[in-house]
Amino acid sequence: DPSVTPTGACEHGGVLNTALPPTKRPIVYWFRRDLRLADSPALVAAARAAGAEPIVPLFVVDPRAGRGAGPNRWQFLASCLEELDRQLGGALTLRRAPGVGGAAAVAAIVAGFAAEVGAEIVVASGETTPYGRRRDRIVAERLAAEDRRLLLLDTPYCVAPGRLRRTGGHPYRVFSAFYRAWLAEPVEAPYERPAARFDALVSDGEATDLVDAAGRGYDVSPSWWRDLPLGPAPHLPAAGERAAIDRLTQFCESALPQYDRHRDRPDMAGTSRLSADLHFGTLHPRTVRDAARKTVEGPALDRFLAELAWREFFADVLWHRPDAAWHSWDPIGRHLAVDDGPQARERFTAWARGETGYGLVDAGMRQLLSEGWMHNRVRMVSASFLVKDLHLDWRWGARWFLWHLVDGDIASNNLNWQWVAGIGTDAAPYHRIFNPDRQAERFDPDGAYRRRYCADLPARLSIVNHKAERAEALTRWAAAKAAVRHESTAD
Ligand code: FAD
Repeated sequence: DPSVTPTGACEHGGVLNTALPPTKRPIVYWFRRDLRLADSPALVAAARAAGAEPIVPLFVVDPRAGRGAGPNRWQFLASCLEELDRQLGGALTLRRAPGVGGAAAVAAIVAGFAAEVGAEIVVASGETTPYGRRRDRIVAERLAAEDRRLLLLDTPYCVAPGRLRRTGGHPYRVFSAFYRAWLAEPVEAPYERPAARFDALVSDGEATDLVDAAGRGYDVSPSWWRDLPLGPAPHLPAAGERAAIDRLTQFCESALPQYDRHRDRPDMAGTSRLSADLHFGTLHPRTVRDAARKTVEGPALDRFLAELAWREFFADVLWHRPDAAWHSWDPIGRHLAVDDGPQARERFTAWARGETGYGLVDAGMRQLLSEGWMHNRVRMVSASFLVKDLHLDWRWGARWFLWHLVDGDIASNNLNWQWVAGIGTDAAPYHRIFNPDRQAERFDPDGAYRRRYCADLPARLSIVNHKAERAEALTRWAAAKAAVRHESTAD
């Protein structure tokens, strides 16, 4: 039943089935992580089925879906919605789930709205996070109970999570094998923006209050973060479909041809900065992949496609193992000793403020506070520092990142954290512990990146000694390994 299986849309040999039954009623189009009009097969299908009837666009602000996101992500979302509403000629209806939100609250809103506008069909683009899947099942059931249908087409990925399997139907555990299968999978050309008639049909007071309505969601953070900088970041990127397309065009014209050589250099503008656009769906990765293919070939293209595929790999891992969002994918993570208590919190605070005394880590953490984004190389180094130099629980760091990152994404963030911590899929060998000074010499050779974010910092003593903490990390790792061995022989 495609109404409860986002992959259903892709069970036709990788080609989307965009033929929906025609209807003589308005169709509700429920926007979620697809805040665009171009390259949207779900919207194309809705427009075809609607014919002369209007499409009634809806967005439900759900604090549960944005749980753990701070003001940066809510602000970016609000700006995306503002532009979407403009593109829809003011037809977007915004409804806010009460309290902390959640699947049942969203189901009540979507069903109530469909009844209000007299729609039998609600169309949306599929969602594949653990919460998104649960919510969509509940919404579909609620609509079905009232003789209405939720139809899901497409996902925010080129290849729907859960689709690619190893022989025997097993999920992929190693990126390189997943990547080969991903490259071999047929991907359609981007879809044209459909000619459709959008209409709000009902008046909606909240629609004028997008920023405020969205902003009310960010009210949960651990109480001991109280004295930490929680944002909003002063320099957030422009949001919305138009800004996303501009960013893509600019990237193809400038950085993409040297992507393989410059992508690891935080001191250069060597990457696309499209991560928030891909997260909120102001761009679909089909469009990005297509544009890249039309612009370059060779190592620059290969490397860029591999990064898009990492995003899809982690979504696939989470599809198969929803528990891996907050629990280590590999059993060893359960046995790894981490510090807690006042000193651990003090160290976390120094890390979060960018006051560790290690220039590259501090610059990265300050870039996060200033822009709601951090360069990938520095994300790896600062995550490694939290886990292997400070011996803190990876979830503390993951939570901090999710709060501040505009591109904060449960699959990409939490599985990258586990990858760095050595407890996820296809993990970097644990003994490969990033040396923050050596990383700085290699990837920020002139210190331009560190100066950009830390110029005002007085030289300070490092809060820990890397060499000593490296040895400590390896001791803890050996103990965790022994515990896993013991556990498996005890079984
Ligand atoms: P580009 O280099 O231009 O790459 C193009 C696109 O590929 C990105 O926009 C992104 O969608 C995808 N991509 C690139 N690298 C990765 C990767 N390693 N894993 C998954 N997807 C990738 N990315 C997020 O989108 N959201 C997160 O919450 C997030 N958290 C991270 C946490 C840690 C600890 C680490 C090490 C990485 C994290 N990443 C996350 C991945 C990566 O750092 C960002 O996607 C990237 O820095 C975004 O910048 P860009 O768009 O310029 O990337």
